[in-house]
Parts: sequence; structure tokens; C-alpha cells
Amino acid sequence: MNRLNEQNMKRRFALCAFLFLCFALPAQGGGFDAQRRQMVKEVLVDTAATASYSGSRALSPEVVAAMGKVERHRFVPATLAAVAYLNRPIPIGHGQTISQPFIVALMTELMKIKKGDRVLEIGTGSGYQAAVLAEIAGSVYTIEIIEPLGQEAGERLKSLGYRNVETRVGDGYYGWPQAAPFDAIMVTAAASHVPPPLLKQLKPGGRMVIPLGTQFMTQYLMLVEKQQDGTLTTRQILPVRFVPLTGGH
Ligand code: SAM
Repeated sequence: MNRLNEQNMKRRFALCAFLFLCFALPAQGGGFDAQRRQMVKEVLVDTAATASYSGSRALSPEVVAAMGKVERHRFVPATLAAVAYLNRPIPIGHGQTISQPFIVALMTELMKIKKGDRVLEIGTGSGYQAAVLAEIAGSVYTIEIIEPLGQEAGERLKSLGYRNVETRVGDGYYGWPQAAPFDAIMVTAAASHVPPPLLKQLKPGGRMVIPLGTQFMTQYLMLVEKQQDGTLTTRQILPVRFVPLTGGH
């Protein structure tokens, strides 16, 4: 075999191996479970590596269990199911993304949710983050501004058996006053400031996690805590990159 043919054979073999890893392996049920375990391992490595920023060296057993249980491949477009367990954001249509698993886990961890807590999420997207929250909290209320995304996510969560998640299409800037107050609030799109209606709907002792900043400047994930006397403390956690919080505010 001449050198050119040999190189072509090697290239073809590498392409076949890549396609097999991307499509054939994950298509088997067991493939997704193994990939999810690997994703959780990578999330734990990232958590330890960023402990000096976040203050969280490890994830709580509840967050690890939720990340290990929720089937991320059911929340991404079918054509991207094969890459659902990469520790990366994934497009979900309408110019939006499902957040990186490490960020989903870190934001959930920072909320310190307890069993029975009432939680509000702004930015339902695919519904994945809401499902992770629902594994730990008592009830989850989630708002999405893009109608088809919100409707799809609502149907998906229902079909997956999440009875403790309420979905709504609307502008999350104004929160969900009828279901307030909340023990914890998570905003999954970057805002220029903390929306006052959300602060009002947070219980004393409650926590809010929100990315602050604009699309073209550095954004920071912030932890806002409302003390029992109503005063607020804020802590900057990590530089992040989120799609913007849109709407009419
Ligand atoms: N949490 C989502 C998930 O698990 O798939 C990913 C969220 S994605 C990073 C941000 C979402 O926030 C987008 O779906 C976007 O349409 C939504 N969004 C942006 N501004 C909003 C607003 N004012 N109210 C509600 N949702 C908003």
C-alpha cells in the first residue's frame, strides 16, 4: 500500500470511530447512563477546581443525586442527544441554550435548597434546570418568555412525571406574585440589575442566584441573600456567559 492510501485508510478509520462514539454508543440505553455518570464526575472536578471563587469545594449529596438522575438527553433536540452529556451548553432552538451542567449544578448548590422548599426559576428554556431543582425542592415555579420553548418544556416536564413543577409563559422580570414568597430564586439569563419584583418575592432568609452583566461585558454569577431583617448581602461568585434577560422592563 502506498503512503497516500495508508493515510486515507487511517483517516477513514478515525472518522468511523468518531461517528461510532457520537452516534452508535449513546443510542444504546446503557450508553446514556454511563455518559451521565461521566458528566457528574466532570462536574465534580470543575466544582473542586473553582472552589476558591465559589466557596463550594464539593456538591451536596442531593445535588449530585439530582444531576445523576435527570436525563439530560431528553431535554435537548433529538439530533443533539448524542452530545447531551458533554459538560457544555447546547443549543435548544430560538437562539437559546441549555446551560453547561457544571453551571446548573453550581447554581443549584448555591441555592441551598431544602426538601419542601418553594423555588422560582426565571428562564425555563428546555426545562432541564427546573427538573434538577424539582428533584430536591417541594415545588418549582418556572417562567419562560419564548412561548414555544415554554410550552414544549411544560409538556416535556409533564410527560417525564414532574408533578411538582408549574410552568408559565411570560416575562420573568416580574416574578410570579401569586405563588410568592419563595425560599429561593434562580435567574438563568443575564440581567443588568437584580429585578426588584424578584427581591420582593424572596422570603427573609432566602437566596437568589443571578448572572449580572450585559451580553458584551463580563457577567458575574451573583449570590444575593435576604437576611431575616430584610437587608440584602451580595457575593460575586464566578465570571459566566449567559444569554440576556429580555422583556419589556
Ligand atoms: N434553564 C434553562 C434550561 O435548563 O434549559 C436554560 C436557560 S437559557 C440559558 C435562558 C432562558 O431564559 C432562555 O430560554 C430565554 O428565552 C429565557 N429568558 C430570557 N429573558 C426572559 C424573561 N424576561 N423571562 C423569562 N424567561 C426569559
